[in-house]
Amino acid sequence: MRQPLIAGNWKMNGSRSSNKALLDGIKAGIGEVKSAEVAVCAPYVYLADVEQQLSGTPIAWGAQNLSTEEKGAFTGEIAASMLLDFNCKYVIVGHSERRTLYGENDDIVTRKFAVAHSAGLKPILCVGETLEEREQGITQDVIARQMKAVMNTVGAKVLGEGVIAYEPVWAIGTGMTATPQQAQDVHAFIRQLIAEQDAAVAEQVRIQYGGSMNAGNAAELLAMEDIDGGLIGGASLKAEDFLTICRAAG
Ligand code: PEP
Repeated sequence: MRQPLIAGNWKMNGSRSSNKALLDGIKAGIGEVKSAEVAVCAPYVYLADVEQQLSGTPIAWGAQNLSTEEKGAFTGEIAASMLLDFNCKYVIVGHSERRTLYGENDDIVTRKFAVAHSAGLKPILCVGETLEEREQGITQDVIARQMKAVMNTVGAKVLGEGVIAYEPVWAIGTGMTATPQQAQDVHAFIRQLIAEQDAAVAEQVRIQYGGSMNAGNAAELLAMEDIDGGLIGGASLKAEDFLTICRAAG
């Protein structure tokens, strides 16, 4: 039985005071979330506040990115060890905004996954096709390329110690959610890809859906067999919406 993971991706939003209000709201309602794991991925500069506000609660926290390097002369970068210093559990790697706006290719994403994992973080690996790729009928090719870049380098076992997030690029921040069946089809395909290398890992690895999941559509997406939670952008910025999604996950 896979424990669903609902993770908020705050992106470049928030302030010290609005984050506190958001986390106070989430903490107040977390008791009604029965079995899902809940996490928030905050901007780096707020991780100290987040750690202070969430320590001792069931809510985990993480970052949205990390450096490919361990330490040294890399101005402006943040190392995995630094995230661990703030007791981060998770770190998002390969988000489509990083891939498209900051030129992160499969090679960079793979290095980030490997560095995060060896440091003891749980990487959340994002994969997903653009609208153009879906319309060309090459969704599976794109997903297979993104998945295999990481899996063939780190191995299926290490991959399975992280989390996968299927995030169709056309659904992120657009309000255009994948239908439950569209999402389920890709999730099953991802699980099958992993099963070709390791059936046990495929069975236990969590595959989240991300892309305009909200309080209104979460339940039907989360009801699908291979959808094990959600990576939530916009709807993670409102405590009540985020909690409704968390409750829908169980
Ligand atoms: C995301 O940023 O990972 C995401 C899924 O965003 P949104 O929920 O806003 O589409």
